Amino acid sequence: MSILLLAHVDTDGSLAKPALEALGAAKELAAGLSVPFDVGLVGGTADAAAVQIGSCGAAQVFGVCAPELTEARYGTDAAAAEAVARVSGADIILVPGTSRWMRVVAGVAQRLGGRVDTHVTECAAAGAEVSVTRWYYKQRIEGVLTRQERPLVLAIEPGTRAPWAGAPSAMAVTPVDVVVPAGRTRVVGVRAPASGEATVRPDAELLLVAGAGWTKKQADGAPHVADAERLILAFLAGARASLGGSKSLVDQSGDGQAVLPFMTHVNQVGQTGASPRHRKGLATCCHGEEPHVVGWRFIGERRAVNLNPNCGWAQGKADVLYVADAFEVMAKVNELLG
Ligand SMILES: Cc1cc2nc3c(=O)[nH]c(=O)nc-3n(C[C@H](O)[C@H](O)[C@H](O)COP(=O)(O)OP(=O)(O)OC[C@H]3O[C@@H](n4cnc5c(N)ncnc54)[C@H](O)[C@@H]3O)c2cc1C
Repeated sequence: MSILLLAHVDTDGSLAKPALEALGAAKELAAGLSVPFDVGLVGGTADAAAVQIGSCGAAQVFGVCAPELTEARYGTDAAAAEAVARVSGADIILVPGTSRWMRVVAGVAQRLGGRVDTHVTECAAAGAEVSVTRWYYKQRIEGVLTRQERPLVLAIEPGTRAPWAGAPSAMAVTPVDVVVPAGRTRVVGVRAPASGEATVRPDAELLLVAGAGWTKKQADGAPHVADAERLILAFLAGARASLGGSKSLVDQSGDGQAVLPFMTHVNQVGQTGASPRHRKGLATCCHGEEPHVVGWRFIGERRAVNLNPNCGWAQGKADVLYVADAFEVMAKVNELLG
């Protein structure tokens, strides 16, 4: 059995965290099966990335490099991934489950006559077999399976394991030729949602969730959206927290209502939103309904501030519920944060 870690190189020439996490998984699997593993790098250049992981213990590092591979694009990425997979002849191909690879891995597995599993959280040696643990249905169901088809492409879910860490070391790259298909898609630039980018911080200790209550009429009969904005932004800055939102709040921008301008759908937590990972979470002015709280499954300690003692958080969904006015609580918390 042979194993290949297939990673794409970032535009700055380095390998990002998800690639290092998948590298750790490949290394562990190879050790479990007592077989060597190779690394395949796809991108504009591969030399710096090869040095970055030079001490990882890979038998060989293959590089598929072309200016067209600097940017993500289905046709060029799929051709490059297929080329390196064929040269390596690997039975098991691990890739980081990034948006770039998730777009192409199914097509690549099809071209290779293999199979693909995505949202993989663990792959381990079970005798001569490889047992794969993966999520289904937006992480609600976990399955453990083995497959006989080869090659088996496994997309390792980012954030589910520690990244490989090791010293940089010189590592030769074996070039792999690929005929990059003439692309019908031209990458002319990258446009990222400015607000989401600034407030979604995956590495933060704490997630602050803002609910629709922040924009609703308060005890004096009027909404206080400007105060809400000031309090939330001050807390984010003071606590270095990441910002999540309920669907009701982020949907408001579409309804033409007064809305917090820094909240977008990128911030939405829940069944139809994200399931972020943070050690602690604080929900404010959010009711705590099941379709929202299901997105909290990877939040460790949960607290909520709500005026309603019978809100969803009180039904066993939070460790601590403060029955209080979030405007007052957050003003006090911000004062304490200085
Ligand atoms: C198929 C489906 C998928 C869905 N997916 C998602 C999803 O991914 N994410 C999601 O969030 N929702 C989702 N929903 C919607 C979800 O069911 C709720 O409607 C939504 O989460 C409610 O948002 P909210 O709690 O912010 O607003 P509300 O229900 O309006 O609650 C506002 C809360 O603010 C409190 N409040 C008001 N003022 C204050 C104050 N001054 N201090 C403290 N508390 C105050 C109120 O007591 C109230 O509890 C989904 C629904 C369906 C049917």
